[in-house]
Amino acid sequence: MPFSKLGLNAHLLHALVLQKYEQPYPIQSQAIPAILNGKDILGIAQTGSGKTAAYVLPILQLVQNAVALKNRHMFALVLVPTRELAIQVNEVFTVFGNTLPVKTKSMAVYGGVSINPQMIKLQGVEILVATPGRLLELIDSKALYLTDLKILVLDEADKMLNLGFKEEMTKIFSLLPYIRQNLLFSATLSDDVNNINQLLLRDPVIIKIEEETNTIDLIKQRAYFVSEERRGPLLRYLIKHNGMQQVLVFTSSVFQADLVADKLRINSIKAEAIHSKKSMGARTDALKKFKSGKIRVLVATDLMARGIDIKFLPYVINYELPRSPKDYIHRIGRTGRAESPGEAISLICPEDQHHFKIIQKKMGEWVTMIDSADLDLHGY
Ligand code: AMP
Repeated sequence: MPFSKLGLNAHLLHALVLQKYEQPYPIQSQAIPAILNGKDILGIAQTGSGKTAAYVLPILQLVQNAVALKNRHMFALVLVPTRELAIQVNEVFTVFGNTLPVKTKSMAVYGGVSINPQMIKLQGVEILVATPGRLLELIDSKALYLTDLKILVLDEADKMLNLGFKEEMTKIFSLLPYIRQNLLFSATLSDDVNNINQLLLRDPVIIKIEEETNTIDLIKQRAYFVSEERRGPLLRYLIKHNGMQQVLVFTSSVFQADLVADKLRINSIKAEAIHSKKSMGARTDALKKFKSGKIRVLVATDLMARGIDIKFLPYVINYELPRSPKDYIHRIGRTGRAESPGEAISLICPEDQHHFKIIQKKMGEWVTMIDSADLDLHGY
């Protein structure tokens, strides 16, 4: 079914053409008409399924027709687990919102930066994307009100619960008006998510998008067997030799992330690290540069890489393996998105061999292992 059949207005349909969204993804075909009809949604879907646009587009349309609210009273609230996701979701609101005749102000708020500029900027905002802690601080300072909220979105609800936001979320729920529309998205339906679902949702439309196994089929996987001391040179060899222009490299620690990025730069490959020890500004900046192609390599730890949304990510390299097979699938799943198949490469040292076997077994797929011993890495 094309976008034009989902009930979206002409302005949004035009914006979709500009964004080169040709066909709705399954979650969008199912969620958009239901949200426009005022239904609650329970969406079980991963990052990469197109869930953001599935709620952003109908919310933008609904806010157009809504009665104007008092200043600092929100029409829609999107709760997210991380600052990066807050910024990305708000970008989607901005990109599509800019094409509408009635301008809607949206904003992302998150902790780790000073609160005052956010308080000032909240003037006139109707759609808010927020991490739970900062949202509560802003409410306490009377910088915003949720008493007239019409739509609540929980994005990546499972991650919010994993990251320990349960208490804050419960507090936020207690501040909301009784009648409202609720949209809940989660990659998994854990017991905790199910509890929230039962607490919040009224007769929801349930949409389940099975993604991980499908995307894995799209991804070309390779592994290189390498000695510990040749791992750095091999990484640089692969990037240079294959002319890779946009590579997400994973390490298992902050320390390694910095080290790998430093070494890449010394070898004239533009790279930056993104991890929890970097300031918010530095992280946003690195992500922007990576997205726009100003740097070739982003070196990330697992937590930081969650929710990084990049339209076309051709290469993921596991410089170090993650501990859990689930994280491995999550990492490599970033390359098999949309219609663009990508490549995931893992660098396996002797001590990782056993662990890599376990990962492959869990994934249900065996990865071709190439011995890198014969590669001439001199000069890399
Ligand atoms: P999400 O799951 O919301 O993080 O979206 C994953 C990626 O798919 C984002 O880069 C979107 O811009 C892109 N995307 C979402 N819907 C579509 C669509 N219908 N056609 C093409 N790209 C899309």
